[in-house]
Amino acid sequence: MPERGPTIFAAGLVLPVSAPDIRDGAVLVREGRIAAVGTLEELGQGNPDAQLRFFPHGTIVPGAVNAHAHLGFRRGDAPEGGSFSTWLAGLIERLPEKETWTAEAARASAREAIEAGTTFMAESSPYGECLPQLAESGLAGTVYAEFFPHDIGTPEEAVEFIVNKVRELREGLPERVDAQVSVHSPYTVDPESSRLAARRTRELGWRLAIHLSESPEELEFVRQGTGGLADIFGRNEWGGVGVSPVRYAESIELLAPSTIAAHLATGVSEEDLEILARTGVAAAHCPRSNEFLGCGVSPVPRMLERGVRVGMGTDGLWSSPSMNLFEETLVAVRLHGFEGATGLELATLGGARALGIEAETGSLEAGKLADLAVVDVDPGDEDPAREVIEAAAGGAVLSTVVGGVAVYDSATETAG
Ligand SMILES: [Zn+2]
Repeated sequence: MPERGPTIFAAGLVLPVSAPDIRDGAVLVREGRIAAVGTLEELGQGNPDAQLRFFPHGTIVPGAVNAHAHLGFRRGDAPEGGSFSTWLAGLIERLPEKETWTAEAARASAREAIEAGTTFMAESSPYGECLPQLAESGLAGTVYAEFFPHDIGTPEEAVEFIVNKVRELREGLPERVDAQVSVHSPYTVDPESSRLAARRTRELGWRLAIHLSESPEELEFVRQGTGGLADIFGRNEWGGVGVSPVRYAESIELLAPSTIAAHLATGVSEEDLEILARTGVAAAHCPRSNEFLGCGVSPVPRMLERGVRVGMGTDGLWSSPSMNLFEETLVAVRLHGFEGATGLELATLGGARALGIEAETGSLEAGKLADLAVVDVDPGDEDPAREVIEAAAGGAVLSTVVGGVAVYDSATETAG
């Protein structure tokens, strides 16, 4: 990469998320990291040699952190929604055909996310199949490799296999792209393989992603061992344990601060919330997917009150209409009655905290990597963050910068 001199990104408004809003603000970037955040006047005077990228009618925010997504689904031909098990049966039916276009879909999904201001992507795919496309996209991110033990052998063999697979996936990756393990769900991975994977990854200091308490059918499967998911996975006889999915996940040691649980959308009780808070597991909130698949509404306000780390996730294009995390966040803001600032935090620093990467990204702070988005909006004082989310949700991102490198420019900036 060529040596780049310092750059000042300046705009009518800067929303650092971790600090108060700055009118006529600026972010000084040196060697991929944020060197200072302040007003354009301050930073401009002290750094006359810096290249200026000035968006006088724009707003600079931290780049969106997508805490749960799947890249390998193509827009336009999603299986029918409405009920989770019907949708999943449709998805499974199409798996053989899907292989012919997964890579192309992953490339397109990643590009769409970048153009919507995303800088970090936490992706889950079978055996990490979308890692090459994430790695070449320019995004920072993690691919969580899902494994399906019944394809492999005993629980010990299955866990050994996925751990080795992730080690292999990690070879030759760009600096900010990583691979980890995912235990897909309570209805696809048996308890023994789940427990072993959780133990093994924690021993290694790795992170883990799971889907949890997503649908009414999952609740029925875990509690009673019956319903739509039991019908699909006729051979999965470990359901029917008489407790909630959250309680079950705790009992097989899946829940820990290094784990991120996607959805938590259906049947999350007060007792479950207590378990989430006590174990320190993080959550990814995907409200559009939950609505499409007939799942419930995740009790995000209650989680936040209890100190559970929550980020936003788009899920994939077969259960969600776009890879635009700000559009996802706008739905959450409306659904829960959040202020804009809460929404913007969920979409950025909240996701970074949920993924354990808040020391490096998620807010505009000196020392962090320069991951930011410039949005074409000049908001008023009432709820500026909400106006920014609305604009970004509507496609108004002008530039997306990952580690100081512009990975997207809509070519409408004012020359500085
Ligand atoms: Zn998912």
